[in-house]
Amino acid sequence: MPTIIHARYAIRAGVAVDDLAVCVDGESIVDAGTLTELVDRYPEADRAGGDDCILVPAFTNAHDHGRALGTLALGIPDNFLEIWLSQLARLPAIPPYLAALHTGLQLLGSGVTAVAHSHNPISWSDLPAELPETVRGYADAGIRVALHPPIVDQNQLVYAERERFLQRLPAELRETIADEDDIGLSADDYFAILDDLYDSVHDSERHRINIQVSPAGGQWCSDALIMRACEWARDRQTRAQMHMLETRYQQIYAHRTWRRSFIRHLEHIGALGDWLTLAHMIWVEDEDIDLLADRGVGVAHNISSNLRLRSGIAPIAKMVAAGVPVGIGLDGHTLDDDMDFTRELRLAWTIGNQSGMASTDLSAETAWRMGTDIAAAITFGADAPLGTLDVGNLADLVLLDWDAIRGQWAPADGPSREQLSAFLLRRAKREHVRHVMVGGEWVLRDGAHARVDLQDVEREIWERLQFAADTAPAKLEAHLRDFYRRWDDEESLMPRR
Ligand SMILES: [Zn+2]
Repeated sequence: MPTIIHARYAIRAGVAVDDLAVCVDGESIVDAGTLTELVDRYPEADRAGGDDCILVPAFTNAHDHGRALGTLALGIPDNFLEIWLSQLARLPAIPPYLAALHTGLQLLGSGVTAVAHSHNPISWSDLPAELPETVRGYADAGIRVALHPPIVDQNQLVYAERERFLQRLPAELRETIADEDDIGLSADDYFAILDDLYDSVHDSERHRINIQVSPAGGQWCSDALIMRACEWARDRQTRAQMHMLETRYQQIYAHRTWRRSFIRHLEHIGALGDWLTLAHMIWVEDEDIDLLADRGVGVAHNISSNLRLRSGIAPIAKMVAAGVPVGIGLDGHTLDDDMDFTRELRLAWTIGNQSGMASTDLSAETAWRMGTDIAAAITFGADAPLGTLDVGNLADLVLLDWDAIRGQWAPADGPSREQLSAFLLRRAKREHVRHVMVGGEWVLRDGAHARVDLQDVEREIWERLQFAADTAPAKLEAHLRDFYRRWDDEESLMPRR
């Protein structure tokens, strides 16, 4: 039975339109028009929505880690990225199935129907078991996933000068971390795991599960590993995602190592192309932005996480103006620790518009697209039928509570249609997400999950948690800070932005 979904306004390509209704049959949007036209064509169809709703294409979270409760709730305070990462070894382990299920439910509650999951293994040796469990968790939640199993082969703990760093540590501390650079997982083993997953669950038609490749970060992976990953993605028409230029120290690392920028180095080895999405990209240099656009490289922008980890502010307006596809990701680390995707869009839009009359504008329309069609394109590929309300696309859509968003502080008619997308972007919150559809299935109705009870999952996670006692990583903070403070002296050598 088809369903006609209608609303007071719909958001199409970031712009509010009047009287756009869609007809969903099976997993797809099969028709669009005015409500009257669709009722004429499908007199028997069910109806959903109404004049008290806003219809928007569902969001894609273009970069995340699926940690369920967030690192702060799990006992790891925010800090500089390099210090914070060293502390993550203390995270209490949440079974991968529950972590993915909980993350998926939280995201659906915020209007997100697809997530790029960059996996953090509990144990590298258990990766072959953890990954299918993660996939199962997202599938049971009812959310689409682009899975990024990680691999690293160098520069764990500190960049470039590991031996020197270890030499300076007190002996008892050094002994606890001396072997950490070897994760015990070879590249051959890694690609065998990836092949198995790809052959068994990769879904390039309906995009329920995409298996992708993830050299975890430029500084943590050799050139050979990065190129093998890019070739793997290209051969299978899937994608690669990599953390890149998240901190100033990563930018300095590139100039120290190759006497050129990280992006120029990736170009030199042949890694840049439309199969690649780079997460963070705060310290991209101005002169490299056109190159990224030319090569079709996607960027996942994580403004909350970048602020919380004191990493800096990415020049997204410049990248967008140059034609780089920039999508939004939560990185499991939102400003209010609540996985609110609309607030993340608001923050990205607001901070993306920087001071100075000469600075580049980032419009509300573009910000909407960064959370919808562009985020879907950099996560699943430009051809994936996701991220818009177009006929033929998979039916992933959200109905927002228009009355609640408008509230009392607006004229009775609301703002003009021209200003509506900015008005919504300024005000919408996750509690305004009323109904969410994934591939034709209502997974959230009146704010309640249709498949699984979120509170039950939360309770099960809390019952299993065992917080770590004070361990070696906790004692590393002062040493890491002292180590990178020396790198700050080289900052003056870096190109200005
Ligand atoms: Zn990340």
